Amino acid sequence: MKRRVLVTGGSRGIGAAIAARLARDGFAIAVNYRERADAAQATVAAIREHGGEASALCFDVADRDACARELARDLESGGPYYGVVCNAGTHADAPFPGMSGDAWDRVLTTNLDGFYNVLHPLVMPMIRARQGGRIVTISSVSGLAGNRGQTNYSASKAGLIAATRSLALELAKRGITANSVAPGLIATEMLAGAPIEELTKLIPMRRIGQSHDVAAAVAFLFSDEASYITGQMLGVNGGLA
Ligand code: NDP
Repeated sequence: MKRRVLVTGGSRGIGAAIAARLARDGFAIAVNYRERADAAQATVAAIREHGGEASALCFDVADRDACARELARDLESGGPYYGVVCNAGTHADAPFPGMSGDAWDRVLTTNLDGFYNVLHPLVMPMIRARQGGRIVTISSVSGLAGNRGQTNYSASKAGLIAATRSLALELAKRGITANSVAPGLIATEMLAGAPIEELTKLIPMRRIGQSHDVAAAVAFLFSDEASYITGQMLGVNGGLA
């Protein structure tokens, strides 16, 4: 039986590329999404077309009760996960003086609380399964360097790196690794409306990254070759930071 991996926000963008890549590497993927069932079904169908195993799993990572309920149901039917990719994320940019409380809360509850909401129900079953495991969180260059208009997003992504590092220490003796991947600028819907030409000039490699660039880093961290790597942060950014 294939080992199970949950990819949160796996329906589109970077998450969909991660789901496809890990399916290709032989994992059975649960493709989490929040709203766009069509996108999740398309990602699942594409994985199956290539001979992979996948199913869609709907819940909002910001909703603690929904995570607990849906993941309990999922664990009962599918058994423990071998790996989790905490990828679901959102942004609501504004200069700090004009940032609404809602924008602050929405970004923090999705990007940072999502770590707790998703991993808390899943970690004990992973430990009890005694098969080791992999946790990868998708942070951002913004969490390392900061970014104007992104105090909320930067805080959430920096917090994610710190939470991942601490969890890595707790899980190390169980053979479960936990690492962060921090993408730079990646061509997804998240960049819609951004001044791409201007931004490209800031990237030493002079190109925007692609979702598969991030997926390759995650796949490496999921590989057997990466079994001694834990508590680390891997940038995928064309030299941006
Ligand atoms: P997209 O906006 O393209 O996709 C976001 C995905 O997350 C969708 O599958 C969406 O599902 C899901 N999602 C959003 N909110 C929730 C939620 N509350 N619960 C469950 N699923 C949710 O984003 P990207 O692919 O660009 O980004 C993926 C990750 O990478 C994010 O964490 C982002 O912060 C990070 N990142 C992205 C960069 C970039 O340049 N694109 C740079 C650095 C980091 P649905 O459509 O159903 O809502």
